[in-house]
Amino acid sequence: MAMKHKPREGRGDKCGVVDCKEQGHKSLSTKKVKQAVPDLKLGSNPGKRIHLCKTHYKEFKKKTKKERELDRLAWE
Ligand SMILES: [Zn+2]
Repeated sequence: MAMKHKPREGRGDKCGVVDCKEQGHKSLSTKKVKQAVPDLKLGSNPGKRIHLCKTHYKEFKKKTKKERELDRLAWE
C-alpha cells in the first residue's frame, strides 16, 4: 500500500498540546488558549499561534463560552 500523501503535512500542523498526537484543527492565539485553558499543557515552543485538534478545540470553546456566560452574569 502506498502511503497517502497529504498536501499540507508541515510541522506546526499538529495539535500543540503536550502528549497529543492529533492533527491540528484550528490555529489559535497561544495567549488566548493559555487564558482560556490554563491547565492545558502546551508544547515548549508554542510561538504566537498554536494549533489545536478537534478535541482540544472543543475544550477551548467550552471554556471560552463559559467565561462569556460568567461575564454576562456579572454584568446583570
Ligand atoms: Zn489535541
